[in-house]
Amino acid sequence: MSEYVRIFDTTLRDGEQTPGVTLTPEQKLEIAVQLDRLGVDVIEAGFPVASEGERRAVKLISEAGLKAEVCALARAVKEDIDAAMKSDPTTIHVFFSTSDVHLRIIGVSREEVIEKVQDAVSYVKDHGFICEFSPMDATRTDLAFLKEVSKAAEEAGADRIDIPDTVGIMTPETMRELVSEVKKAVKIPISVHCHNDFGLAVANTLAGIEAGAAQAHVTVNGIGERAGNAALEEVVMALHLLYKKKTGVDTSKIYSLSQLVRRLTGVPIQPHKPVVGDNAFAHESGIHVKGVVIDPSTFEPFKPELVGRVRKLVAGKHAGRRGIKTILEESGITPTEEQLSEIVRRVKELGDKGKTVTDTDVVAIARAVIETPPPEKKVLDLRELVVVTGTGVIPTSSVKLDIEGKEYVSAETGVGPVDASLKAIQRITQNLAKVSLKEFRIEAVTGGSDAVAEVIVKVADERGNVVSARGAREDIVMASVEAMVNALNKLLARRAP
Ligand SMILES: [Zn+2]
Repeated sequence: MSEYVRIFDTTLRDGEQTPGVTLTPEQKLEIAVQLDRLGVDVIEAGFPVASEGERRAVKLISEAGLKAEVCALARAVKEDIDAAMKSDPTTIHVFFSTSDVHLRIIGVSREEVIEKVQDAVSYVKDHGFICEFSPMDATRTDLAFLKEVSKAAEEAGADRIDIPDTVGIMTPETMRELVSEVKKAVKIPISVHCHNDFGLAVANTLAGIEAGAAQAHVTVNGIGERAGNAALEEVVMALHLLYKKKTGVDTSKIYSLSQLVRRLTGVPIQPHKPVVGDNAFAHESGIHVKGVVIDPSTFEPFKPELVGRVRKLVAGKHAGRRGIKTILEESGITPTEEQLSEIVRRVKELGDKGKTVTDTDVVAIARAVIETPPPEKKVLDLRELVVVTGTGVIPTSSVKLDIEGKEYVSAETGVGPVDASLKAIQRITQNLAKVSLKEFRIEAVTGGSDAVAEVIVKVADERGNVVSARGAREDIVMASVEAMVNALNKLLARRAP
């Protein structure tokens, strides 16, 4: 087994055959440039005979001065090869069906296959191109015939033989056997091209390499026909870290390329997708977060930085005190132990309501908690809040406040429930301080309609004291009331003799 494995990327050809995906020549060029920076050895840019757009895309990429081989696909027929040659690639990837299932449909005999393949390969080589030959549906082809075709292609001058598992029916074991067998028949390097119909594309690709294949066909994010192809990011990371092999890939660029392909193709990435999925480096459970904070290797196979990513600590209901503390420290917030307990309590409460609590939510909650004075310094506290709103009713809020141990109730109407609630609070507290609202804004709203809302209020009293305070709740009325109560507590503390 050689140390270096060549990476043949077919995102722009097989990947583009993903149902519903079409890329413009310019978009293909953008991806090709990034693939080249990533360091793949071959970029299969398209199938020129298929359309004018394909021809233009391959030509654009061929002329971009990339380091990688630029490859064009062609059936083993003159018309296809001519179209491919016109787009000036380095390499022409010639394919022809070899399995009996396919031959029966196209009505070609095995003898004719040999003849067509040899003619096509010689034609490509006579024109000075690198030639990779694929016996299509190789994994369902009679083994003796597969060897015969491979040998015939080699004799005609092919530079590489690819073994495509066209319908994705191999297992690592059968793949290993097949590659070893073909390797006995030819001296030129062997490629493997695995489809993912049973979720085995990456495993089969690696098995092929173990058996001596020198090159792997892959696509970014594993996109491709049906269930897709072997994913570039998974094959490369496994080769580097599990098989201790080398490729030309700069892994730190993997994530940005994955995102580019996601954006341009419109094919989403499942959250738990290895390497590039949203959750691939996210930790939520308390035990895991605690471990990862002390030493990332406890629950991570490799560092996210290796593929250009950062670790994500999700402060869900499983997040422990330590995980939340770390998130806050990263934002420069150092709560007291009591404040931290209250923050943890509120985060878990949100989690129990089924909400995903993001880092931003945790920071907003922490800021609101830190603004809340400790119980012994609180002049007033909220006891009850009832709001009525809707169409055909006047928004009304009734508020019960505790002021130095005594309860006060008031109800007010307003233009909306927030307005009504703030007025009710002001009504109760008017004997303590005549406050007016100077500013009201909602600063951080993350995610969907159940997101945490952060409200900031600025109030002034009749003596010219001005304070601002925050509230953060998943309910915007509650967030507003919390901010107002915090502001009043601050103001009253300042007025105290
Ligand atoms: Zn394919």
